[in-house]
Amino acid sequence: MRSKNKPAPTVAEAEYIRYVAKQPCSVCDQGGGEAAPSEVHEINQGCWWLSIALCGDCHRGSFNGLHGQRRMWHLKKLDELGALAITIRRVFECAGRLS
Ligand SMILES: [Zn+2]
Ligand SMILES: [Zn+2]
Repeated sequence: MRSKNKPAPTVAEAEYIRYVAKQPCSVCDQGGGEAAPSEVHEINQGCWWLSIALCGDCHRGSFNGLHGQRRMWHLKKLDELGALAITIRRVFECAGRLS
């Protein structure tokens, strides 16, 4: 997930990423929680505030994945911004429950 030329996340960013990873996949709604944390995809490399929670298949799958043919994305009529909005809403709801 982290490459050499990518700056390490700040404390606030690291906390945000932890919330994102707890959310289910923003495309197919699978996984999430402590048992099956989601993968985190940044729309812009190194910009952690633009992170999307994705399952492995919707992220890296050659057929369904964002980095593949995006079949699941087409099925759900989502692009990166649409999925980002779902992640942000879920993180916001998750954080609200804790405070
Ligand atoms: Zn998925
Ligand atoms: Zn990615």
